Amino acid sequence: MTAPRLLIVGPQGSGKGTQGVRIAEALGIPVVSTGDVFRANVKDGTELGLKVKAIIDAGDLVPDELTSAIVRDRLEQDDAAGGFLLDGYPRNLGQVGDLDAFLASRGEALTGVIELSVPRDESIQRLALRATEQGRADDTEEAIAKRLSIYESETAPILDVYRERGVVDEIDGVGSLDAITERITAALAARGISA
Ligand code: AMP
Repeated sequence: MTAPRLLIVGPQGSGKGTQGVRIAEALGIPVVSTGDVFRANVKDGTELGLKVKAIIDAGDLVPDELTSAIVRDRLEQDDAAGGFLLDGYPRNLGQVGDLDAFLASRGEALTGVIELSVPRDESIQRLALRATEQGRADDTEEAIAKRLSIYESETAPILDVYRERGVVDEIDGVGSLDAITERITAALAARGISA
C-alpha cells in the first residue's frame, strides 16, 4: 500500500474543498487546507489573521515564506504521520520547492495529485452561488477574477511539474458529488491508495 500523501488542485469553484474532505475522511487522513487556516485566523482576529486579511480579501496570495512555514508546522503534527491531503497548497512553483525540500528531508514525496477539471463558466457559476450562500468576503466579482487569473498563471504550472513526476490524475469535476468522489477514489486505488 502507498502512503496517501495527496494534493488536490483545481480552480476556485471546482469543488476541491468538498471532494478533499470526502476523500480524506474515507482514507482516515487529515485535510490541510491553507485557505481554511487563514480564514479561521481572520475570524478569530489572531496576529496571523490581522496580517493576512487584506491580502485574502483582495484575492492575492499570502507570501510563500509565511504559508510554507504554516504548512510545515501542520505536517509535523502526529495525525499527519500516516498521510495527509493538501488543499490549496502548494499554489505556485516557489511553494512546490518549499514542500519538496520539507518532504525530502523526511524521505517523503507526494504520492498522488488530483487535478479537478471544471470549465471556467461552470466554476464562475458555482462561485456566484457560493457567494450568496456563504457570504465569503473574497467572493466579490473582483476578487474572484483575481483568483482565477492567479490560478491560471501561477497554479496551473505546478501541475506540469507533478505531471512530469507521473503522480497526477486528471478528474472530470462535472457531475454529481458522489460520481466525482467515485472517480477520484478509483484513480487513487489504481495507484495503490485506498482505505
Ligand atoms: P482558498 O480557500 O484555497 O481559495 O484560499 C483562500 C485565500 O487564502 C486565497 O485566495 C489566498 O489569499 C489565501 N491562500 C490560500 N492558500 C494559499 C497559498 N498556498 N498561498 C498563498 N495564499 C494562499
